[in-house]
Amino acid sequence: MPSAEKAQGIEVPMARYRDPNCKLCRREGMKLFLKGSRCTSDKCAFERRGYAPGQHGQSGRRKGSEYGFQLREKQKIRRIYGILEKQFRNYFKTAARQKGITGENLLVLLECRLDNLVYRLGFAPSRKAARQLILHRHFSVNDRIVDIASFQVRPGDIIRVREKSRNLDIIHSSLKEIGKVFDYPWLRLDKAKMEGELLEKPKRLDIPVTVQEQMVVELYSK
Ligand code: SF4
Repeated sequence: MPSAEKAQGIEVPMARYRDPNCKLCRREGMKLFLKGSRCTSDKCAFERRGYAPGQHGQSGRRKGSEYGFQLREKQKIRRIYGILEKQFRNYFKTAARQKGITGENLLVLLECRLDNLVYRLGFAPSRKAARQLILHRHFSVNDRIVDIASFQVRPGDIIRVREKSRNLDIIHSSLKEIGKVFDYPWLRLDKAKMEGELLEKPKRLDIPVTVQEQMVVELYSK
C-alpha cells in the first residue's frame, strides 16, 4: 500500500537510533517514555539518575542560549517519536505548507503515523516496538497490510491486528497495560476485536506530549 508520506515527498529512512533509550531521557532532562512499562516502574533510569549522562552531567549546568533551548525542544520531539533529522525536517516542511499553526500541524502529523497509533492504541509497549511489529506485517489498515511505520493514518481508518498475529504475547501484555490508562478522545479502541480507529485528527490540547513546538518553528525560521 503506498504511503501518504511518500506521496507528500516525506522520505522514510531505514536507519534508527542506536543510543540506549534511557540516556536520551537523561540528556533531555525529562521522561520520554521510550521503554514501555519500564518507564512507569521504579526501574526507570531517569527516576534513579535524573541528570544528564557524562562527566559533567551532575553539575546541572545547561547551555542557556535561545538557540540551545530551541534545539533541545526539537531533539525532544524527534526522540519521542523516533524520527531522524532529515525525515523530521520533511515533516516540518509539510506542516508549514498546511493551513493553521505550523507547530501544531507538525505534532498532528507525527501523531498520525502508524507506529505512533499502534503504540497509543496499546498494541505495542513503545513506538520502537510498534515499528518492529509493523515491519513484520502484523497490522492492516482498512484490511490492507501496511508494513511502513511512517504511514499516515487518516480519520476513519481502521487499524487491525492481523488474524495470524492475534496470539502474540507482546500485543496481549501491552493491551493489558493500556487498559489502565487509555484516554485518547480522538481514538476508538475495541480490544475484543483487536482493532482501533482514528476518529479525528487530535487537537494540540489532547496530545500528551510536553514540548514547546513553537520553539522548533522559531529554530527553522532562522
Ligand atoms: Fe526514559 Fe525512564 Fe523510560 Fe528509560 S525507563 S526510556 S529513562 S522514561
